[in-house]
Amino acid sequence: MATLPDRERKALGRRWLLGIVSLFLATLAAFAVLCLHFPHVLTTPELRAVYPMQVVRALIAGGIVLAAALGALAVVLRRGRRLGALGLGLSLAAQLAGGAWVEVETPVARSHHLGLDWLALDLLLLAIVFVPLERAFARLPEQPVFRRGWRTDLAYFFVSHLLVQLLALATVVPAMLLFRWAAWPALKQAIALQPLALQLALAVLAADLASYAAHRAFHAVPWLWRFHAIHHSSAALDWLAGSRLHLVDVVVTRAIAFVPLFLLGFEQAVLAAYLVWVATQATWIHANLGAPTGWLDHVLVTPRFHHWHHAADPAARDKNFAVHFPWIDRLFGTHYLPGAAWPARYGVLEDEPPPGFTAQLWWPFSRRR
Ligand SMILES: [Zn+2]
Ligand SMILES: [Zn+2]
Repeated sequence: MATLPDRERKALGRRWLLGIVSLFLATLAAFAVLCLHFPHVLTTPELRAVYPMQVVRALIAGGIVLAAALGALAVVLRRGRRLGALGLGLSLAAQLAGGAWVEVETPVARSHHLGLDWLALDLLLLAIVFVPLERAFARLPEQPVFRRGWRTDLAYFFVSHLLVQLLALATVVPAMLLFRWAAWPALKQAIALQPLALQLALAVLAADLASYAAHRAFHAVPWLWRFHAIHHSSAALDWLAGSRLHLVDVVVTRAIAFVPLFLLGFEQAVLAAYLVWVATQATWIHANLGAPTGWLDHVLVTPRFHHWHHAADPAARDKNFAVHFPWIDRLFGTHYLPGAAWPARYGVLEDEPPPGFTAQLWWPFSRRR
């Protein structure tokens, strides 16, 4: 599918739709059954603690049945036969492996783990919300779901979700080791007394100021740019494109954004709400969504604001670094949002990173040509 033009990719996607949906659901169901079998190594303790298991099991059972039915239909109707057959086979395998009713031995021991449950859950939620939204309010209606580079971005999505434990550790440990001396108990106490909504707004602002600085440094310092150029290498933006971040970029940016959160001492509930906010907004601002956002463009970072950050246009170079509040860029003189226009092209202007997850992983370390 690598060389097909967008129009043909879109037509193929529509023709294979039944098979695609079947294989997608079957894969998620198989992941979920694996999680039931090996919860201590494949699931996230923080999520395990809040799962309504009856609902989760009903979802898995429903997913298996739907995947099998759609797979069979795809084969009969020739709407993505091979994908449908794969979906049917995989859903049967998931069922044979115990399906939704695999017993989980409790308590589940805490251990090193991969976030396979987080991966399946987030992919399902985002796909259900953003794929239809992007179809209904597309900024570029010709851009298919399976546009150029989608497999690369999916690989990033997989890795960053599976490594959730490692990445969380890499985010919080530097602040704890390096900035413990700067913690100011009286300030922490004063903040803890504020209403949760105010704490959340403060947390988002503090994290955005810190990540603004980190993001700007990633653009300004040539060897740091090599890591961040990966994020800018997407020629097509959509809900999945924001996942394309080099692991060094992820760890450094998150660790820096976490420093003020650590110093200001927010409650756990506020930090959890902040994580949901940042994950949702980061997905939204990359999405292929063209509905006018009007005044919101000046209050919150919107798709149009961040799409300009990705523009392959010299006028927009090194602009719009904020992830939450666009007025931070106004404050520091890096704001760029011409009229109601959208960029004509996305990507990097020179020294383009290679395609593919593995090649991109090593590229920043390779010698500059
Ligand atoms: Zn950037
Ligand atoms: Zn971006």
